[in-house]
Amino acid sequence: MKNFEFRAVQLDLARQMETLDTIRHFIDVAKQFGFNAVALYLEGRVRTKTFPWPTPEESYTPGQMREIVAYATQQQMDVIPIVSTLGHVELFLRHEPVHPLAELRDGGVGRMGTHRLNAFCPSLEETYRFLEDYVTELTEIFSSRYFHVGCDEVWDMGCCPLCAERLRKGERLDDLFAGHIARVHRILSGKLGRRLIMWDDLLEELPLALEAIPTDIIQCVWQYDAFVEQTKTHWGRRRRDHRMADYDRRGISYVVGPWAACGTRNTESLTHYARRFHPMGGLLTLWDGHPLEDQYAVITFAGRLWSNPEAEDGRKICDQAYAELFGLDDPTFLQALWAAKSVGPLSKRQTPAAFLRGPLTPYAFERANQARLLGMVLGSFRDRVPAGFPRNVLDGILMSLRRELVQYEIRDIMEGLYEGWNGGVNRQAALLDKGRKLLEDLIAIADRRDAVWRRERPNIVAAQEGNTGKFESNLCDKLAAFFKTVETGQLRETGLFVIRYSLPDYFGWPATKWNVQYEGSEEWVLLDSGMPKPWDGDYSDCPFFTVKHPISGNRRPLRARVEVTGYGGIGILYVEVRIGRESFRPVRIENIAGLVQDPDNILVDDTGSCWLGEASTAEAFHNPAMARQVHTLEIVLRQS
Ligand SMILES: [Zn+2]
Repeated sequence: MKNFEFRAVQLDLARQMETLDTIRHFIDVAKQFGFNAVALYLEGRVRTKTFPWPTPEESYTPGQMREIVAYATQQQMDVIPIVSTLGHVELFLRHEPVHPLAELRDGGVGRMGTHRLNAFCPSLEETYRFLEDYVTELTEIFSSRYFHVGCDEVWDMGCCPLCAERLRKGERLDDLFAGHIARVHRILSGKLGRRLIMWDDLLEELPLALEAIPTDIIQCVWQYDAFVEQTKTHWGRRRRDHRMADYDRRGISYVVGPWAACGTRNTESLTHYARRFHPMGGLLTLWDGHPLEDQYAVITFAGRLWSNPEAEDGRKICDQAYAELFGLDDPTFLQALWAAKSVGPLSKRQTPAAFLRGPLTPYAFERANQARLLGMVLGSFRDRVPAGFPRNVLDGILMSLRRELVQYEIRDIMEGLYEGWNGGVNRQAALLDKGRKLLEDLIAIADRRDAVWRRERPNIVAAQEGNTGKFESNLCDKLAAFFKTVETGQLRETGLFVIRYSLPDYFGWPATKWNVQYEGSEEWVLLDSGMPKPWDGDYSDCPFFTVKHPISGNRRPLRARVEVTGYGGIGILYVEVRIGRESFRPVRIENIAGLVQDPDNILVDDTGSCWLGEASTAEAFHNPAMARQVHTLEIVLRQS
């Protein structure tokens, strides 16, 4: 089997700066484990003559970046800059002088109904003047033959008056996108002699753009599922395709893009699948919000997998890489590491109410058990792992396991406490006791994260809560306040609005808004508005999942109204309101508007769903008016 000629690992410096020492060390590790390039995800992280607005604390100088390139060159390592040129240009648009280049420059509303400056306008000459000046400066710093121009997730493309006018006159989004790619290609390839790399996700929604863009651009096929059997679209109901076969037919080069935080299974299964085709290599991504120390295990695995032509047995590669990384080849230790890093961690919940997801599913229960057991096993080897970098990495893994376990346990407690008041068995004292211990654990995690931050990133501003202890300490405060409401009996005054959803399109964008009318008033009171998604990482929960919203004051509901907008729609299986031992259930559906399928399914508590909204994200992508349409129904509730 051929090894990958292109083997890069990305560091996300845009969302979180690192010290030059950390970047140099990152290059060392990448080289040691078989990569031949690091890709620095920068957006506007480098302050230059044409982009002088970032403060020194929030940017690197060209001189600092030259130091990194010189260091890497000494190690025969390439440094590839990644500078988003269309979407995800938040770091540029943070600065007022750049605002006139934004797609939403005139206070406009984007595709998702919000005003956030995250994309450039491809219809303005000024955009390309700025980009040309800036990337020219960067090519003077980065000598790599490659230049990655981003171009993923440009959700707001086509939203400004100029772009909208082009669409009205007959151009498609495909044309706007392809036009942008042609412009940056002309600058970077034509004038500056670089080979472009781009993320390929938008080409799924814009197939005509693929026909039009230069074929010498390297496409990065990113897929973050834990188990990749076949590529799937990132949107649009996860349509399965064989995109790499298509690129092979067209003579387009491409690399695979797994994500370190998604565990070794993501890298291994995507690579395994890609071997059927002819990829030129891989770009392992690292994104914000996950502590860097926790990522190194998967980095070492990916480097070895991609640089070893004999690598077919992922488990063997893993064992060899981990034994080298940790300086320890005990089989129990390696087995535990393999289990700990196979799949990614649960994403973080910010508020006590976010943990109200019903009882643990079998998957969640087993993950919690595993996190506890692996923590004990790996912890027992801690003293045998050399102090310094190897032990820091192990500590990062241990900390992530603890955090994951704590989250499952909080979910368990929250469910138990509410259920105790809502007709279930009341275990209040025992659960509160457990809750206090969890608070202590969270405080310890927060302290440890703070300490790591101070050690690894002196003088660097924390941009991401995930890396510092801030997330845990915020959650501690909120949980402590919640436990007070249990102690004082306030929880007795709190009912629960239970909603069971069905969402087969995990990456859809269904915005829901729930209002409730209570006894004694005609007024509609907002219960919740948001984008309900399954409990991440828990695939057994998908497509069905439960969300519970507290209702304070024991108000008795008469009606509930749901409004759905956005992309992809959502299914509602059932709703129920519980107040103490009383239960209020749907008896009738009224006032239907928009696209609402099988509304009567809500009357029965089974797996039949009422679907609200336009199911085709692809169609709505080209016609955002569809996404703004409101699909609504009212549910009449009665005590039963
Ligand atoms: Zn525009």
